[in-house]
Amino acid sequence: MSRTPTAAPVDDPCVDDPSVVDSEQLKRVLDGRHHGLREEIRAAHDADWFTPRLHVDEQAHQAWVGEAMQRLTRTPHQVLGFPTAYGGADQVGASVAAFEMLALGDLSLTVKSGVQWGLFGGAVQALGTQVHHDRYLPSIIDFSLPGCFAMTETGHGSDVQGLRTTAVYDPAAEEFVVHTPEDSACKDYIGNAARDGRMAVVFARLVTHGEDRGVHALLVPIRDEAGVTAAGVDIEDCGPKAGLAGVDNGRLRFDHVRVPREALLDRYAHVAADGTYSSPIASANRRFFSMLGALVRGRLSISGAAISATKVGLDVAVRYGQERRQFSDPSTGEEVRLLDHPSHQRKLVPAVARAYAFTFAQAALVEELQAGHDGRLDQSASRRLETDIAAVKAGATWNASRTLQTAREACGGAGYLASSRLPELRADTDVFTTFEGDNTVLMQLVAKNLLTAYAAGAAGGLGAARTLVRSLASRVADRVRVPWPTDVLDPARQVALLREREEHVLDGLARRLRAAVSAGADPTAAASAAQDHMQVLGRAHVDRLLAVAFDERVRSCGEGADAGPTADLLARVRDLFVLSRLEEDMAWFLAHGRLGRADARAVTRHVDRLCAELRPHAVALVDAFGIAPAWSARTTTTGGQQGLAA
Ligand SMILES: Cc1cc2nc3c(=O)[nH]c(=O)nc-3n(C[C@H](O)[C@H](O)[C@H](O)COP(=O)(O)OP(=O)(O)OC[C@H]3O[C@@H](n4cnc5c(N)ncnc54)[C@H](O)[C@@H]3O)c2cc1C
Repeated sequence: MSRTPTAAPVDDPCVDDPSVVDSEQLKRVLDGRHHGLREEIRAAHDADWFTPRLHVDEQAHQAWVGEAMQRLTRTPHQVLGFPTAYGGADQVGASVAAFEMLALGDLSLTVKSGVQWGLFGGAVQALGTQVHHDRYLPSIIDFSLPGCFAMTETGHGSDVQGLRTTAVYDPAAEEFVVHTPEDSACKDYIGNAARDGRMAVVFARLVTHGEDRGVHALLVPIRDEAGVTAAGVDIEDCGPKAGLAGVDNGRLRFDHVRVPREALLDRYAHVAADGTYSSPIASANRRFFSMLGALVRGRLSISGAAISATKVGLDVAVRYGQERRQFSDPSTGEEVRLLDHPSHQRKLVPAVARAYAFTFAQAALVEELQAGHDGRLDQSASRRLETDIAAVKAGATWNASRTLQTAREACGGAGYLASSRLPELRADTDVFTTFEGDNTVLMQLVAKNLLTAYAAGAAGGLGAARTLVRSLASRVADRVRVPWPTDVLDPARQVALLREREEHVLDGLARRLRAAVSAGADPTAAASAAQDHMQVLGRAHVDRLLAVAFDERVRSCGEGADAGPTADLLARVRDLFVLSRLEEDMAWFLAHGRLGRADARAVTRHVDRLCAELRPHAVALVDAFGIAPAWSARTTTTGGQQGLAA
C-alpha cells in the first residue's frame, strides 16, 4: 500500500543504495534509548484498526476515539508513567516516548489520551497524595473514570495566577464550595468535558479563614456513572473547532458545588479540618511555580507529538517528491522527479534536518525528565529542565506548523486532499502552539529563567567569571565589528556560533533591563518593554539546544575518518541543520559581526551543496522515522480506502 498521495506510478526504485546508508541503523539512532519500546508499539499498532480514519463528522470521530481509548487500555503502554504500585512502571520517559508513537496516528486520539492519562492522571499523580492515588489512579488508568484537566478560564488562559474560580473552605461541613463567580471564570476549551468526563481536576483560588491562598487544584465530580451531569455543574460543548474534531472540548460552570476536604490535591498545601492552611513551601509564589513545574510532562509530550506529526508530513512529502515527475530535462528528455529540482530540495531537505534536530533535543529532555522523576536532578537542574522544555515545546510546535504547510505545498494539489493526511495534520497541530502554554508566553518564561540564571551567575562563582569573560568578549567583538574567521563546516564552530549568539542576546537583554531600572523604570514595565528582545533570546536558546543535542548524538555515533556511512550521513544532516539556521538568521550574524560577507556566501553555497548531496538519501532519511504504513494510510470511518494507491 502506498503511503503517498497518488502520484503517477514509476518503475524506478528508490535511488538510495542500502549498502551505503542503513536506514534501520539510522532508525535506531533516532529512536534512541526507547528503540525497543518504539518497535513494540510499531508492531502493536501496525494493525488495520489503528489506521487513521477520515472522519466525515465530529460525532463519528468522537465515538471512534472513545472506542480507541478503550482499546488502548488493553495495551501495556499507557500505564508506563504511573507508579508500579498501580500497575505502572514509574517510567515517565518511556511514557513520553509511547505518546510520541501514538502521535504518528490520529491526533484526536493522541490528545484525548494525553488529557486522560497525562493531564488528568498526571495531575492526580503529581499534585495528589497517597489517598488520591489509592482512590483514583486505578480507575484513571483503566479509563473507567474519564477525567478533565480544568485550568483555563474564558477570561484567563496564559495568566494562570489570574484565575477567578473559587474554592472556599467551609469548616462546619468540612467541605470546599467550588464556584464560578462570573462568566469569564467558566472553565473553557476543557478536553474530555463535553462528552465523556466524569471528574475534573479544577484549578481554583483556595480561600480558608477568609484568606485567598492562591490557585490550587481540587477534584470535582462533573457527571455520574450514567453520564448524568452533577448537581450545580453546567456543561456546554465548545462547538466545532479548527481541528481535533475527535476530542470533546467543553465549558464548565460551577454553582456552589460542594466537595469534601480530601478533594484538595494536597501535595503542596494542606487544609486541616478547622481550615488551618499549611504548606511545606513557605513562599506562595514558589509554591505556585512548584505546582506548575510538577506538570511539565504534558508540555514535553506535546512537543514530542508535534515532532511526530512533522515526521509524518515529511514522510508523505518526501515520498511524493521521489515518485512524482514534472517538466522534462532538456538533456535527457525525461521528466524530472520533483526532488531533483533544487528548489524542491531546498523546501524539504532542510526540513528533514530540522526534524532530526528536534528529535535529538526532545530525546535529551526525555532523559532529563526521567532523571528528575528519579530524584537525580538538583533544584537548579530542575529549573533548567523546565526552561528547556518550554523552549523546545515552542520551537517544535512552531516548526510543525511551518513544516506541515511546506509539506502540503510540496505535494501540490494532492497535498490538499484529505487522503494525504496533510490537511488534518496541519489543522490538528495548529493548536499545539497555544495549549500546554502559548508559545510566545513560553518564550518569555524561557527568557526570564535565563535572566535569573544569568543574574545568579553574575553574583559570584566560577560560572560568573565565565559569563563575564564571554560577555566582555562579546562586547569587544561588537565594537570591533571585524567578522571572525569562520570555518562554517567545523562542527565545534557551528555550535559555538549559536551559543555565542544566545550569550550575546542574553547579555544585551540583561544590560538593557539594568539600564532601564537604573533610570527609574519599574522592573515589570522594563521587562514588558523588552518583550521583543525576549522572543529573540528564546529562539536563540532553542537553536543552541538543538545544535548541541544534534552534535552530541553525531559524536556518540562516531565522526571523522572512522565514521561509518550512517554517522557520516548524520554529520552532514547536522551541518545542514545548523547552516540552514545560520542562513535564515544571517542578517543577525552579519549585523553583529559574527559572520562576514564571505562567510554568508559560503553558508548559502554549503546549504545548496548539502541539499544536493543528501537528496539521494532523502527517502532513507524519512524511512528512519519508522512510520508504519498503517499510520500514513487513510480509511474512511466506514473502512474504505481514500485516494491511495493500493
Ligand atoms: C483545542 C483546545 C484544547 C484545550 N484543552 C485544554 C484543557 O484540556 N485544559 C485546559 O485547562 N485548557 C485547555 N485549553 C486552553 C489552552 O491551554 C489556552 O487556550 C492557552 O493556555 C492560551 O490561553 P488563551 O486562549 O486565554 O490565550 P491568551 O493567553 O489570551 O493569549 C492570546 C494571545 O495573546 C498573547 N499574549 C497573552 N499574554 C501575553 C503576554 N503577557 N505578553 C505577550 N503576549 C501575550 C499570546 O501570545 C496569544 O497570541 C485548550 C485550548 C484549545 C484551543
